[in-house]
Amino acid sequence: MKRICVFCGSSPGANPAFMKAAEELGTLLAVRKIGLIYGGSGFGLMGAISRAAIQAGGEVIGVIPRAMVEKGVESHGLTDVRMVSDMHERKSLMASLADGFIALPGGYGTLEEIFEVITWAQLGYHNKPCGFLNIAGYYDHLFEFLQHGSQQGFIDAAHLEMVLWDETPSLLLDRFLLYRPPEVDKLASAAKKTAGYNHQNGIHSH
Ligand code: AMP
Repeated sequence: MKRICVFCGSSPGANPAFMKAAEELGTLLAVRKIGLIYGGSGFGLMGAISRAAIQAGGEVIGVIPRAMVEKGVESHGLTDVRMVSDMHERKSLMASLADGFIALPGGYGTLEEIFEVITWAQLGYHNKPCGFLNIAGYYDHLFEFLQHGSQQGFIDAAHLEMVLWDETPSLLLDRFLLYRPPEVDKLASAAKKTAGYNHQNGIHSH
């Protein structure tokens, strides 16, 4: 595993444990010689993880849309900044540079980014591990919701298990190294469930 992309809040969050975890993960990546790919900002958890990784001698690549640089959010300590034209280009470059994806606590941006790569993983578009670092129980309700989504038939058990969770950076990284992509094909599974539903309800589809 050469590089991991970390999505995280551009704000520090209400609990000091969030910034501390970002620093811890940044340092750990550097110590384990794993490069950090992230959104390039100097704010919030994003700033904390990148500063810690740089300070520990790690490789840090910031991928940031030009418009954000013009607004002054770019971190000034970065030696490798990839400027892109928009959010779509940013996410596709981040995804291609990374061998795995971690979400630290964050808001809409973080959630959107991690769920996009999870969606690609369940479609088999990539075989890279995706996981949440659940600091101070921040993601407990989300995890419960995903279990609910699985119980209600929208998320296959294999795709629920595919998403890795842990409360400490080092244990999550250990899980990443052991990761095996799921064998369940999302599209085939959806087709089978739909055929079962149609059969039970007398629906004749083409
Ligand atoms: P949020 O969790 O809503 O704070 O959004 C954080 C995520 O969205 C990061 O992983 C970034 O990729 C992107 N993002 C949001 N705000 C910024 C910002 N000020 N600078 C750079 N990226 C940002």
